[in-house]
Amino acid sequence: MLDNCIFCKIVAGQIPSKLIHDDDDLIAFHDINPAAPVHVLIVPKQHIATLSDCTENHVALLGKMMLLAPKLAQQLGCGYEVDETGKAGGGFKTLFNTGPDGGQEVYHLHLHVIGGPKPWRGQR
Ligand code: 5GP
Ligand code: ZN
Repeated sequence: MLDNCIFCKIVAGQIPSKLIHDDDDLIAFHDINPAAPVHVLIVPKQHIATLSDCTENHVALLGKMMLLAPKLAQQLGCGYEVDETGKAGGGFKTLFNTGPDGGQEVYHLHLHVIGGPKPWRGQR
């Protein structure tokens, strides 16, 4: 745990969050400033600053993060579905911001899961 890291403090329970998932490796909680009706963050318990700090040692952890995203989207009502006629509906975006030019504000690795019935920027 890094002393001055806000997400380490959320992992440790020192700062409250609206938690929606908690396992040995990951937590997920609602973003405090949502960009869409559904906006959650998947956060490893281990402190890793950015995606660029990840190595081969983090392959399984990153895989877990990616696989949790559709599960949480489903749980929160924005899962991707194909109905019996073949029509596709729902869906969400997954996003890692990395570094200043990537728009990263919190330097503890996190995966944004963004979706909802009214996407915030049309269908791009
Ligand atoms: P970044 O820009 O680093 O990819 O995203 C950081 C995200 O963390 C932002 O969307 C911001 O709203 C969210 N965030 C920052 N501080 C807190 C906090 O204390 N609690 C929660 N729930 N979200 C936070
Ligand atoms: Zn941290």
